[in-house]
Amino acid sequence: MNPEQRTRIDREHIWHPYSAMRSPLPVFPVSSASGVRLRLNDGRELIDGMASWWCVIHGYGHPRLKAAMAAQIDTLPHVMFGGLTHDPAVRLTEQLLDIVPRGLDKVFFCDSGSVSVEVAMKLAIQYWHAQGQPQRTRFVALRGGYHGDTFGAMSVCDPVTGMHGLFDGILPRQTFIERPRPRFGDACTGADMQALQTALEKNHDIAALILEPVVQGAGGMWFYAADWLRRARRLCDEAGVLLIADEIATGFGRTGELFACAHAGISPDILCIGKALTGGYLSLAATLTTAAVSDAIDAGEPGVFMHGPTFMANPLACATASASIELLLGHDWRNDIARIQAGLERGLIPCREMAGVRDVRVLGAIGVVEMLEPVDMRAITHAFVERGVWVRPFGRLVYLMPPYVIGDDDLDTLTRAIVEVTKNVTN
Ligand SMILES: *Cc1c(COP(=O)(O)O)cnc(C)c1O
Repeated sequence: MNPEQRTRIDREHIWHPYSAMRSPLPVFPVSSASGVRLRLNDGRELIDGMASWWCVIHGYGHPRLKAAMAAQIDTLPHVMFGGLTHDPAVRLTEQLLDIVPRGLDKVFFCDSGSVSVEVAMKLAIQYWHAQGQPQRTRFVALRGGYHGDTFGAMSVCDPVTGMHGLFDGILPRQTFIERPRPRFGDACTGADMQALQTALEKNHDIAALILEPVVQGAGGMWFYAADWLRRARRLCDEAGVLLIADEIATGFGRTGELFACAHAGISPDILCIGKALTGGYLSLAATLTTAAVSDAIDAGEPGVFMHGPTFMANPLACATASASIELLLGHDWRNDIARIQAGLERGLIPCREMAGVRDVRVLGAIGVVEMLEPVDMRAITHAFVERGVWVRPFGRLVYLMPPYVIGDDDLDTLTRAIVEVTKNVTN
């Protein structure tokens, strides 16, 4: 395809995420990817600092993942899950139950993170309906949170960045509390829990508290105290409210624990996973819950859980996820994350001294430079591409979430690019 034709068709007919059809922002044609490198159609290579929105933890074109996919394509790439089952789904379930926080025992497979959040919310609502408390249909959520783009998920996203005003009257109204103030590593006090405690005590229509444990991702890249999460679990228990942990971004090692709930030593009643589940090779997500929740739903009306997507437990995706989990656990992944954390700290902490920078924070394989002002996306994207790196900021946040296989030299190139580019952007 000639470049002009590609640009024209893309510009005139294809939406990109959160874009206008007549977007002035450039999109870069990419032709292939290998390891931590994206190759553009014009031959340039970029070191990937995003892991394709945090999914591609083992890098691109990994031989073990490709082999697992090829084998599954040859046997059974897809079959409906209504009335049928298959080894890829069963094997993946066994692997997941081995590694998720304790108590989670039932798995619902679906196609995307947003849908897994919808499923989590519906599980909570059906649970309370079955318990004879059908008024419990609402959720407590944190400001600065992000849970996806479908309607239910949107309703628990940050109301400002999630543009709730635009969908007023259509979105269910949820109860929001401020994001946890104490930072990761800090202790928290009763005062830090007051808003949550009040929200849970005052509202008798709450089905669940939904949150991203420890790391809030796309809503603001904020890392909060594990102690807050531990106390939140206790408050949910005291109020008899379910806890939904959205680990779509944090799952599979990103924060230095396999699941971020482990930082607080807690288990949620419902867990959402997605993104890195397949190593980022295919779209797959899952919602897990306890036997207590599933037993209650079974005993209620209509006696079944009301959800069943067409591509539920797609065998190709399940087989890929199995191979990705095997690869992760077969590795000293803690060492990888610790090494990346050290590299991010070494490279990004110096930004703290720079004009225009509000905060720098690093946790696990996540490094964030928060600016005082929103960045100019057009200028900053070009500046990064010129330096041979792929970094995609949003708002005031310039961040790195590289694949776990990144080498120290490539990581240094990424952090150096951030230092140089943010310096120039603010000058
Ligand atoms: C990305 C993300 C989602 C939405 O997942 P999609 O696959 O994009 O639908 C939900 N919650 C969190 C925490 C996420 O990071």
